[in-house]
Amino acid sequence: MAAKLLTVVVSQTPSKNPAKRQLEEELVAALMIDDTVDVAVVPHLYNLDSAHSGTLFLQALQGHLVVLSWMYSRAAHWLLDRSGIKGHQVETLFDGQDEGDEDIEIPEPQGVGGVELPDRKIYCLDLGVDDDSRVYLEEIDRIGQELRADTNPTPVSLDLTDWISGSPKPEQLQRYLDPLAVLSGDVDVEPVKRRWYPVIDYERCTNCMECIDFCLFGVYGVDRMDRILVEEQDNCKKGCPACSRVCPENAIVFPQHKEPAIAGALGDVGALKIDLSRLFGSATGLDAAVAERDVELLRDGRDAVGASVGMPKRQAERDSTQRDELDDLFDGLDAMDL
Ligand code: SF4
Ligand code: SF4
Repeated sequence: MAAKLLTVVVSQTPSKNPAKRQLEEELVAALMIDDTVDVAVVPHLYNLDSAHSGTLFLQALQGHLVVLSWMYSRAAHWLLDRSGIKGHQVETLFDGQDEGDEDIEIPEPQGVGGVELPDRKIYCLDLGVDDDSRVYLEEIDRIGQELRADTNPTPVSLDLTDWISGSPKPEQLQRYLDPLAVLSGDVDVEPVKRRWYPVIDYERCTNCMECIDFCLFGVYGVDRMDRILVEEQDNCKKGCPACSRVCPENAIVFPQHKEPAIAGALGDVGALKIDLSRLFGSATGLDAAVAERDVELLRDGRDAVGASVGMPKRQAERDSTQRDELDDLFDGLDAMDL
């Protein structure tokens, strides 16, 4: 197979929503006749575990990637990174739109950043931005032009016969390069179940360890460089977003949460301006996190602990005068139900 400049990966919606499926089909049909890109379809990225052949396929890909998924772009990028699909995160024109008005306070990222990044670029596009496939195709075309203008292009290889793990076999990975068959269900891909776990944005994470102290369910650990790690993803309690409210840097993302700020949005969402510095690590956010954690402890048959365990030091300095304003903010986010 001739190597192309770019591989475009479509991550399927976990829902049966016909409009979402139609958008995926339109994109795949158009990309398949574009001889500058390869195109692949995998099940919803968030639901893939480390042993799934979709994950192994993505790990085997080399060269630049565009990933189209039903997630905010930073959620998709750090989810891929956690799965060993690493590269330099490149902003797209979509990200520029997400930033919204200049008067929204979005703290500059001060995090530890990614590590062991290969010389490749990853562009993540959120399929929730627009229902017109041409919007995505134009952006992919622009990215292709940008890469072609690079005077020192990264070699690209889609030769999956290089895959040396032995299991699954190369032909099991190649099936993802038959995107129409994957979309139609004609290819026998292992089933996935819905999962729920936090994704850490290392561009924002300062490694303060407040999340590991707060979570009482053994989700977090540290890697060999003593960096915080979502170690036991499936220990997380379905629907619980508590630690994301505790993180002072808004570095913990739950891509499927209904509140855009927790799902990875930055800035302006609908008519609501999200001031992240007020939402995360705030007194009201901590109250909500404590209540959410207690619910999960009780469901497990354990005792509620309230604010007596694993609370950040900021809690002692809480300013109750902020409550009315912050309560309004939470009410607004809940009411949006996006
Ligand atoms: S609380 Fe947030 S910033 Fe601190 S280690 Fe956890 S993810 Fe990183
Ligand atoms: S959401 Fe709840 S259960 Fe999951 S990691 Fe955070 S605190 Fe732990």
